[in-house]
Amino acid sequence: MSTKPIRIAVVGLGKIARDQHLPKIAASADFELAALVSSTATEGDIPVYRTLEAALAADPNIDAVALCTPPQVRLELCQTASRHKCAILLEKPPAATTDEAEALKRIADDSGCVIFASWHSRFAAKVAEATAWCQSHPLRSGAIEWREDAMKWHPGQTWLWQEGGFGVFDPGINALSILTQLYPLDWSVSAPCFDVPSNSGMPMAAKFRLVNKDAKVDVALDFGPTETETWAIHLEAVSGETLDLTQGGASLSVNGSPAISGEDEEYAGLYRRFAALVRAGQSDFDTSPLEIVTAAFNSARVSKIAPIPFL
Ligand code: NAP
Repeated sequence: MSTKPIRIAVVGLGKIARDQHLPKIAASADFELAALVSSTATEGDIPVYRTLEAALAADPNIDAVALCTPPQVRLELCQTASRHKCAILLEKPPAATTDEAEALKRIADDSGCVIFASWHSRFAAKVAEATAWCQSHPLRSGAIEWREDAMKWHPGQTWLWQEGGFGVFDPGINALSILTQLYPLDWSVSAPCFDVPSNSGMPMAAKFRLVNKDAKVDVALDFGPTETETWAIHLEAVSGETLDLTQGGASLSVNGSPAISGEDEEYAGLYRRFAALVRAGQSDFDTSPLEIVTAAFNSARVSKIAPIPFL
């Protein structure tokens, strides 16, 4: 297996590309940043292209692309990357709909390209330990509470509030990506209720229950103003034992013991996984978190709330 650095282009230089992808690529021996694709960026020593097609035409030795755009605009990017035989890393969520996600997978498969639907929260410091616990503790019930202030964490991100942006499910799907790793069950969505601003189709808050046989998990997602963020999953096993993952999966407590936190490893782990997939010629494409979101959207009871000021 080759150990040569994988030459990668990063597409969409927004918050997550700058905060996580570029630094983690720079720190990784597995990758070499070959190009940036951006409608606006001008900076740096790395070649910047306005389109992915232009980047791949100028540099045919690019091996991989990281698509850090919003989910709504990935179809054409995947077609272009696949035509040029590039491996594809998709930021979460992989696409705006489950149908489109399947289409992206087909496009990559048909061209023999690796495609990775990444879920960064699955690489949070304590998720692997929690997964091991869950494997020996069948679930009875749980509660997910995921609250962050949209205006603090996502200022000016209008795409979040447009079709396929998912509103509060953009962060909320991170919790679902952890749950579906801990318990990869066939979850059904019960009684979803959404609060939807009058000038958007996307929810500001959502509540629903996930059910699988006798197991149930209550989910509360909230994007409204809050002083403190909450990214918490509480689980109770059939045995009565409990597990709490907090700080988005970075902190773990079992049976009420003091919570232990780990280092932030999410994107370093995500890029290690992508490198392994590229080198093995394998794809990793789990859409189960997106399927839950789609089911919630399809049957939600909607209450209209005040409009979002900046839209
Ligand atoms: P963002 O700050 O709005 O950046 C997205 C970038 O994508 C833009 O700066 C733009 O890059 C490019 N783009 C292409 N088409 C676009 C369009 N129609 N509308 C807006 N931007 C477009 O968003 P982000 O927060 O980085 O999120 C991007 C993806 O990463 C989402 O799927 C999100 O769920 C995921 N994510 C975000 C975070 C976070 O904390 N923000 C964390 C984890 C994952 P150019 O200006 O360079 O063309």
